[in-house]
Amino acid sequence: MAPNASFSFDYRVTHLEEQPPPFPQLTIECEVCDTFVDRAELVEHLEACAHDSSAPYMLKMMFLHQAKLENIEKWIDLNYKLLCDGHPLQLPKGICYHCPNPEDHRNERCKHLTRLEYLQTMLTKTEEDYQWHFTEAQRFLTKTQIEMLSLKQRRYLDDYFKKIEGENSDPTSNEPAFTAEEKEYPASTCAEIRSIERRNNEKMRDLQEDVERKSRENYIFQMEKRRNRHEEMIDYLTIKDRVSPDFELEFA
Ligand SMILES: [Zn+2]
Ligand SMILES: [Zn+2]
Ligand SMILES: [Zn+2]
Repeated sequence: MAPNASFSFDYRVTHLEEQPPPFPQLTIECEVCDTFVDRAELVEHLEACAHDSSAPYMLKMMFLHQAKLENIEKWIDLNYKLLCDGHPLQLPKGICYHCPNPEDHRNERCKHLTRLEYLQTMLTKTEEDYQWHFTEAQRFLTKTQIEMLSLKQRRYLDDYFKKIEGENSDPTSNEPAFTAEEKEYPASTCAEIRSIERRNNEKMRDLQEDVERKSRENYIFQMEKRRNRHEEMIDYLTIKDRVSPDFELEFA
């Protein structure tokens, strides 16, 4: 388990066309233990494999924000379909996307809206929340990756120290093995420690640059995809409104 082993993330897009998740499907090679782990089992895996780090927590937070994103999309998709089919809309927790309060909604303040207008209200209303959860999800994903590498490097150094301390202890003596404070390591050992640390730092810098770049690319990719989907919805409802301009919104 070299500290500078490559850190590979396999982004695999396997989304369904009608409900793409904000993040592409992710299969991750756990770099802490070098095994391939299914996305669905990753939290559980890290809780065992990286229990002495914050990686499992970071990953849980990532999934939490992602669930929020999926929820936002789920409601938009559902109501878009209902608008297309002319069925009553279903509001999350009964809260109208348009009306400022429940009373206004009961008084049918949104009734005059066209299908397209209601869709646009949904998109505008959720945009800020969507952006926030997206940013947070990416931030926690990055942190998870950095935490995993950091743990791996820490463990490698620990093992290294254990090894050299083992080599330097005299099994016939009752004296405890020396520790860093009590005894100087030989110059060659010091040089090796420094070189491990240098490699670790380089590897960490590379990873940071890499995840930041991937993160930016993923953001652009996902937003583009989302925009295209919304444009399709807008185009379709524009036509629907033109074909049947007397349509009235209804709520379940
Ligand atoms: Zn592992
Ligand atoms: Zn309303
Ligand atoms: Zn939210």
